[in-house]
Amino acid sequence: MAKSYREELVGVFGDPIDENPTVVVASKAFEQLGIPYRYVTINVKSEDLKDALQGLKAMNFKGIHLTIPHKVAALPYLDSISEEAAIMGAVNTIVNQDGKLRGENTDGKGFMKSVANAGYDVSGMKIVMLGAGGAARAIAVELCRAGIGELVIINRSEERGQGLVKTISENFDVKVSLRLWDKTMPIDADADILVNTTSIGLFPNVDEKPDIDFDTIHDKMVVCDVIPNHPHTQLLKEAEKRGAKTIDGLGMLINQAVESIYDWTGKVPEAEVMKEALAAEYGISVHY
Ligand code: NDP
Repeated sequence: MAKSYREELVGVFGDPIDENPTVVVASKAFEQLGIPYRYVTINVKSEDLKDALQGLKAMNFKGIHLTIPHKVAALPYLDSISEEAAIMGAVNTIVNQDGKLRGENTDGKGFMKSVANAGYDVSGMKIVMLGAGGAARAIAVELCRAGIGELVIINRSEERGQGLVKTISENFDVKVSLRLWDKTMPIDADADILVNTTSIGLFPNVDEKPDIDFDTIHDKMVVCDVIPNHPHTQLLKEAEKRGAKTIDGLGMLINQAVESIYDWTGKVPEAEVMKEALAAEYGISVHY
């Protein structure tokens, strides 16, 4: 039989996108699975998203990841959406099934796995969340599904913050409230987990930190960041100085990629192999 040079295409759309390391873990996963898939990292501006999604069908991509600023904006252009992603109102994974685009969301699942792998059971916990965008919605829904006791959302824009409060209160029996982020915010002393879901600190703005009172963080708190930079964000460094346990965004990135690769290929890659690829890329140890 003649040799086939054809590859199946997947990848990520985002803006900015240059430093997104998902290609490292996805490529390793495809190599480990022994399947001819290629993951491409593509800068797509907001105004081009609709055309870019049509392009997936034209070029027969198997699927795509979406990152900032596309996770909510993509919804009107999809043919269907999973029940979970519909509650979240955000998608991070699109599957192209016979020319129809289906929206999924693996961000929250990736985050939850990182927390579980670090040894924490979130049931009954009080969570303080910075941000109310796509990543926040995914994580908030998964936290509520896992039975947290209370969610406090701190967000700059009232509209987006209220939108997430409404989603949670309509779908879950969890105490939820919004605080407007218009000053340096203290973190509640009785919070079990503080999670940053904003893009503050994302490359290239690696010196930025959220405007919170870092002295309200203490050693009984777990502080999580979704930013997949390396080594640690300024937020995590401030938290470590105060004795808090920290969970970084790299582990979440690996775990959500495992879920997405399963959605695209029907195969489950080894997270350990992907972790090693990322660690080798950065010369660090990665918790996932
Ligand atoms: P969105 O644009 O949907 O949401 C961004 C959120 O950040 C909004 O709540 C926005 O507030 C807030 N925000 C941004 N800048 C500031 C600021 N200077 N001060 C206060 N609030 C701010 O983005 P996403 O949710 O899609 O992505 C957010 C981050 O999560 C990205 O950095 C992305 O890299 C990361 N991420 C990491 C993943 C991983 O696997 N580790 C997976 C998914 C995301 P407002 O509503 O006021 O505009």
